[in-house]
Amino acid sequence: MKQKISNLIQISIVVPLYNEDESLTELTDWISRVMDTHGFSYELILVDDGSRDNSWQVIQDLSKLHPIKAIKFNRNYGKSAALNVGFQHAKGEVVITMDADLQDSPDEIPELYEMIKSGNHLVSGWKQKRFDPISKTVPSKFFNWVTRILSGIKLHDFNCGLKAYDLKLVKTLDIYGEMHRYIPVIAKRNGFEKISEKVVEHRARKYGVTKFGLERFIFGFLDLLSITFVSRYKKRPMHFFGTLGTISFVLGFFAVIGIIWEKVRAIYILQTPDYRDVVDQPLFFIALTAIIIGMQLFLAGFLGEMMVMNNHKPQDYIFDETIGLD
Ligand code: UDP
Ligand code: MG
Repeated sequence: MKQKISNLIQISIVVPLYNEDESLTELTDWISRVMDTHGFSYELILVDDGSRDNSWQVIQDLSKLHPIKAIKFNRNYGKSAALNVGFQHAKGEVVITMDADLQDSPDEIPELYEMIKSGNHLVSGWKQKRFDPISKTVPSKFFNWVTRILSGIKLHDFNCGLKAYDLKLVKTLDIYGEMHRYIPVIAKRNGFEKISEKVVEHRARKYGVTKFGLERFIFGFLDLLSITFVSRYKKRPMHFFGTLGTISFVLGFFAVIGIIWEKVRAIYILQTPDYRDVVDQPLFFIALTAIIIGMQLFLAGFLGEMMVMNNHKPQDYIFDETIGLD
């Protein structure tokens, strides 16, 4: 029994990092100070996303002093991949994610922990007062607005790196691409609907530069489509394509019946042999197109369905080195 209690980890802190060697020591010291002050048992999971600087060397040194688990990717897979692997190895009752660049403050962790323990599934940080250039803050406002409308989740800052999660929720997440921007949306879809936010202190980047350029907005938008649309139908593409296809086909089919009936009636019943040709009316072409599109959509649904059935998980990430994993 005693064994069990001492093995309990209250907090897992997952930090994805890419070329952040200047920040790591300060970050780790700060986290450990906060954890010790509050007497939390914790683990710090550092995921080195293929850094080309000295990050891994720094992590190796830090791991001699702190309860660190670390993974080094063989190349840069992106922040979502790093978070995903960090989540897989997390054991704490509450999982905290934060950026490595010291823009998020570890002082927020104890309160975030309490908010999860009191029943929230996910608590997202809200950088109400941001220290970022305007080229980032304005588009980000727009993104948050669109995501709020599409998802029905009332958050101001979906992409805040500082978040807290119930461990159960974390284990249902499988994120890749730029999906880390929409974790609350995925969480809600997975049935974890108690999502709230906490205003957090935000600081200017102290060392290094941002790792995301303008492409963040395009990729981010495409991923939003994937999450709101593809995810909903990916296990049942036939429901989407099949429905559209059937509607289109049926409309086209009855239009054709109508056209033929008109012709037959004109010739045999009304006895007007010079009635216009079938191909002389727009409806004929519309009907033809509708039938063809209908069959195409149906086929797309059918093929999609077969792909889902044969679906294999994508290849896992390759680790160059790890520290402290079991
Ligand atoms: N990051 C990562 N892989 C990447 C890009 C970024 O692990 O390909 C990490 C980065 O090191 C930092 C966090 O994700 O810890 C947030 O990145 P950044 O601070 O550059 O983003 P911003 O604050 O500008 O949105
Ligand atoms: Mg940053």
